[in-house]
Amino acid sequence: MIIYGRKTVQSTIKSGKFDCPNCRRQESYQLKNYQLYFHIFFIPLLKIKELGDELNCFFCNSTYVPGSVLSSHEYDTRNRLGNTSQEENSTIGLVPCDFGKRIGAFVIDLALLYAFNFILIYYIQSGLGFIPLIGFAYFMLCDFLLKGSSVGKLALSIKTVDYNEGKNVLPFYTILRNLIKGLCVFFPFIYLASLLNQDKRALHDLAAQTMVVDK
Ligand SMILES: [Zn+2]
Repeated sequence: MIIYGRKTVQSTIKSGKFDCPNCRRQESYQLKNYQLYFHIFFIPLLKIKELGDELNCFFCNSTYVPGSVLSSHEYDTRNRLGNTSQEENSTIGLVPCDFGKRIGAFVIDLALLYAFNFILIYYIQSGLGFIPLIGFAYFMLCDFLLKGSSVGKLALSIKTVDYNEGKNVLPFYTILRNLIKGLCVFFPFIYLASLLNQDKRALHDLAAQTMVVDK
């Protein structure tokens, strides 16, 4: 079994009818998108590269560059994903960020905390103490000072916003969000919830009515 490595992730963006140049008649097509991911076990974590889209004729199985057989109305690269939830979110003009980026940001922040802790222990023989508690304080401070960001989030150009309006998260929800996020240390699956919905919201996002987006 391959534990980690690169993996092509395929998703069907849409399907419909088109004039297949090979069949010379109207046939059904499937428009697929391919992305190269770094994966651990079976979980695609970090997007490495966008491999592009491909259109397949359902009947003859020929593949085409989508723009060559679909009109710009049917295939718009700017709004290519065309799924309703993302269209809805475009009312707040924001795109949910990748699962891998979130984990990446979280790992950077944790690494920072641990490094800081290590330096303290080295120089003054005393650490920060209970890391989850320090983590909570750290994320709270970041959320308030950096407005929904953290060092890790800044590094990967993502931030937390209010789900309904795309604005900064209210203090009450920031506290609620971080309390639930703190549980991640003990129950990492909280993050996995973001793999289950289109807006990629984890449990703490759902509770605090937030979403993590690309800047
Ligand atoms: Zn065909």
